[in-house]
Amino acid sequence: MRTALLLALLCVLPASAAEPPKPVVLKAARLFDAKSGKLITPGVVIVTEGKITAVGSRAPVPAGAEVIELGDATLLPGFMDAHTHITGQPGEDWRQDVLDRLQRTVAERTVEALPYARTTLMAGFTTVRNLGGEDFIDVGLRNGIRRGRAVGPRIVAATSGLGTTGGHCDGGNSWRKGLLAQESGQGVADGPEALRAKVREHIKYGADLIKVCATGGVLSRNDDVDSPQLTQAELDAIVDEAHARKRKVAAHAHGAEGARRAIRAGVDSIEHGSFLDDEALELMKRKGTFYVPTMIALRGVRERYEKGLLSPEQIPKFKAAEASARQAVRKAISRGVRIAFGTDAGVFAHGRNAEEFALLVEAGLAPAEALRSATSVAAELLGLANQLGTLEAGKLADVVAVPGDPLQDIRRTQQVFFVMKEGVIYRNDRAAPPVVTR
Ligand SMILES: [Zn+2]
Repeated sequence: MRTALLLALLCVLPASAAEPPKPVVLKAARLFDAKSGKLITPGVVIVTEGKITAVGSRAPVPAGAEVIELGDATLLPGFMDAHTHITGQPGEDWRQDVLDRLQRTVAERTVEALPYARTTLMAGFTTVRNLGGEDFIDVGLRNGIRRGRAVGPRIVAATSGLGTTGGHCDGGNSWRKGLLAQESGQGVADGPEALRAKVREHIKYGADLIKVCATGGVLSRNDDVDSPQLTQAELDAIVDEAHARKRKVAAHAHGAEGARRAIRAGVDSIEHGSFLDDEALELMKRKGTFYVPTMIALRGVRERYEKGLLSPEQIPKFKAAEASARQAVRKAISRGVRIAFGTDAGVFAHGRNAEEFALLVEAGLAPAEALRSATSVAAELLGLANQLGTLEAGKLADVVAVPGDPLQDIRRTQQVFFVMKEGVIYRNDRAAPPVVTR
């Protein structure tokens, strides 16, 4: 009876579903152990049905497995970027960017985001935490990628950032009253209860976490980069509500006072942190708050500055942040604050994310710690450490490969040539005819 049922089932299933996909064996000269921060030689990862089933040179090779030889390369867990804006990228003129956004439908803007998602994945970033996207496009993109309708990284989506009237997350800043009323509305509220309601609304429409703009920003046009923009009570309400719903909170904060309020409220990470002082860093260390420095964001803004693309209001804010940020990151590293990798991609071109690794190393982070910041440490910040972040049996098969040894030269991370996400190979520039073992 049971056999008959099984046969009947097999008849209606497509052949591929009846035959489980072939196991894959990835082989390279080295493997980065994101737990210990050490290299293992040689690197061997066995993948079956989207998951890692065994790791290490002594792992038994299953019969019929496809063996992929990657040669003088290092296997690493898929990189994670804890701070992206994957639905957009700046053009040459910020006014035109705003008008384009207003004129285009949500569908058009979603289609325009598809290459950004693809480029990010091909650069080795198999997971991103998207910290701010309008009209819930990040939620749609996340779901489409999850369903296999688009190619891109796994997205942990914050939807639009929360903030107060006239703050960094208020898209209507510096425009005539009423002109950008809709842009203003999405994450903006004032007072603890109204912000609490925003948290509920964002979660209702698909937010995986909450982003809040605790201080001014570099690119917003009518606020100070370092002033706090929410009261302690407002931040407390946001974090209380988000955590009650099992959602993490990321706080954009440049200035120390706004950051301190956010840390006291219990946010999970501080983003940018250009003016973090000793007191704020000590508080982060004590509370275990992650720091996501996004150093490449200021490099991206510098490039725009050098091309004459910053507005007069943005220039002094950029210069002040740039003068202070490196020192803040150095201090955080020497104090042992947990550093998670994030870039702010979308403020500059997507796909350049891995440039952040070298900047972190230049600021004093050991190469192995820089790699951990984008793998095991980022997975912890994103709440995904039980599924991702290390190459271990039982985890999802997100694996990337870079040529040579990234501990000797961290810039190797900018040369990702192999990308696997959940067992599916999206890129292999060293592809050779497959070898089938018997
Ligand atoms: Zn950002």
